[in-house]
Amino acid sequence: MSDNGQKIILPTSITVRDLATQFKVSPIQVMKILMSNGVMANINQIVDFDTAAIVASELGFEAVLEIPEPEEVEEVGEVPMWRRVIAEEDPDKLVRRPPVVTILGHVDHGKTTLLDAIRHTNVASGEAGGITQHIGAYQAEHKGRLITFLDTPGHAAFTAMRARGAQGADVVVLVVAANDGVMPQTKEAIDHARAARVPIVVAMNKIDRPDANPDFVMRQLADLGLVPDEWDGNTIVVPVSAKQKKGLEDLLEAILLVSESCDCDIRANPNGKVIGTVIEAQLDKGKGVMATLLVQNGSLEMGHDIVVGTSSGRIRAMFDFRGRKVRKVGPSTPVMVMGLNDVPQAGDTFEVVSSEKEARLIASQRKQAQQQVQASPKVTLELLFDRFKAGELKELRLVIKADVQGSLEPIIKSLKDIKTEDISLNILHSATGNITESDVMLATASKAVIIGFNVEADLAARKLAEMEGISIRLYTIIYRLMEDVEKALKGMLEPEYKETVIGKADVLAVFKISKAGNIAGCRVVTGEIRRNGRVRVMRAGKMVFDGEISSLKHEKDDVREVRHGFECGIALRNFNDVLVGDSIECYTLQKTVVEETF
Ligand code: GDP
Repeated sequence: MSDNGQKIILPTSITVRDLATQFKVSPIQVMKILMSNGVMANINQIVDFDTAAIVASELGFEAVLEIPEPEEVEEVGEVPMWRRVIAEEDPDKLVRRPPVVTILGHVDHGKTTLLDAIRHTNVASGEAGGITQHIGAYQAEHKGRLITFLDTPGHAAFTAMRARGAQGADVVVLVVAANDGVMPQTKEAIDHARAARVPIVVAMNKIDRPDANPDFVMRQLADLGLVPDEWDGNTIVVPVSAKQKKGLEDLLEAILLVSESCDCDIRANPNGKVIGTVIEAQLDKGKGVMATLLVQNGSLEMGHDIVVGTSSGRIRAMFDFRGRKVRKVGPSTPVMVMGLNDVPQAGDTFEVVSSEKEARLIASQRKQAQQQVQASPKVTLELLFDRFKAGELKELRLVIKADVQGSLEPIIKSLKDIKTEDISLNILHSATGNITESDVMLATASKAVIIGFNVEADLAARKLAEMEGISIRLYTIIYRLMEDVEKALKGMLEPEYKETVIGKADVLAVFKISKAGNIAGCRVVTGEIRRNGRVRVMRAGKMVFDGEISSLKHEKDDVREVRHGFECGIALRNFNDVLVGDSIECYTLQKTVVEETF
């Protein structure tokens, strides 16, 4: 045993075997020391830093906690429209605006309680109207400065904004319960914030609880690259008790500090072009469409004509979060407006235009464009390569879900080992468990593909993926998964097609016409035969030809389709051997968008 007090750097957790290797002693020796300290551990068991530190000191070392470097994360997604608008404003006209904050964290860690506590403590009240209803956002005051809080549950508003390219929040407050520590949704929230490049302030909540263990939680956070400032890291960790309303001032102070020091530019021109984002919207039976808007540049006024996504209208009434009527509001202010003709979606961008007519026109153009976009899948592995080539994408972004940690780790490791020339792989989020709506939101916001290994996608996730055109690929064999990702990166992945048989015709006669080749005289017996469909000629249950139609006639006319019960003449491209008694099946091929299972 050495007794020189030499320092040794150890991670937050380590196996007995690795610990022995670090000290250059046998694992048995480590196990003996552990045993003498009341810890029965086998060679593969993981011990925490504190336990490892005891072993270290018995072996004459001083254990020092390893602080991992935070991972550099590339910003993903496009520059939101409102940011582009601000970038075009005269820099001299830009003034500071209140930071917009969203609260993320694991369920039950106290997000709602914290939002309520801040609302009650730091929102000036007592004025006419009082706090009447939640509109999805509110403003708190700290030392005379305002902070805008998005107040919708979970990630909804934040990710919806990102998914529509709005990137609304300037700061994320990550709530972590001091008694429970980092949980799956905590990690997910960190990934969401990082993908959006939004700085994180940690609210270490529930410190009033007797089982609170802030040191342990800070270590967990450090492990994820959120190194607390008191350990010389860059992340401010504020101990709070939402329940007892303690630490709130410190939290607000930290938010202002971060928003001032981050390189996110929290400025806007209150007299510039009016633009912002929808926080939430619903239809009220009596009042019509009620939409909460966050103004991000310019000032929104009563009577303004606005276009929001695919809806439009003139602002007939406007209320602040206290339910008070307002006439004009500036950047970072949330307001509820009435006057839209349709319910917009959270995350949609709104803009003020010069007339109601123009608003209607833009809205209807967008509707058309949207229908076209919806018809084409946005993110599938097959289509990515084209976008790589077109220079639209520089990396393949993945969200990976697996059944157990034991399969997740090797998948990530092998994926990281794939070598390609220009395109890099960016794993935005990886976790165990089924694919959920939240995974799809992250994928939508960041234009990523979702890969599942031995997991399923739940119904809500499937629906959302279908709507957003996000590809979910499910695998049960690791090498197939690797193979597909590798092929996608090299542009070799064949699109998967889904076949739909749309009709069948029986061949009743064959006419030999020298110029056009043989024409099959048919009767359509089911569905329809389409000129631009694909066809298969079946003879005695076997396929003798698979290809295209070169001409389709009804009586003497060229037609696009012939329906069930009618007769027609079909000529086939590059096939002349059609016989009486054959049947011709017409089918269509569509690229599958949502799911490929192997
Ligand atoms: P959310 O799911 O993250 O929104 O969590 P909630 O705000 O609903 O809180 C979950 C539970 O934790 C509730 O029973 C709260 O009363 C409790 N809670 C929230 N904050 C604190 C706190 O600071 N201390 C204690 N002891 N309990 C808290």
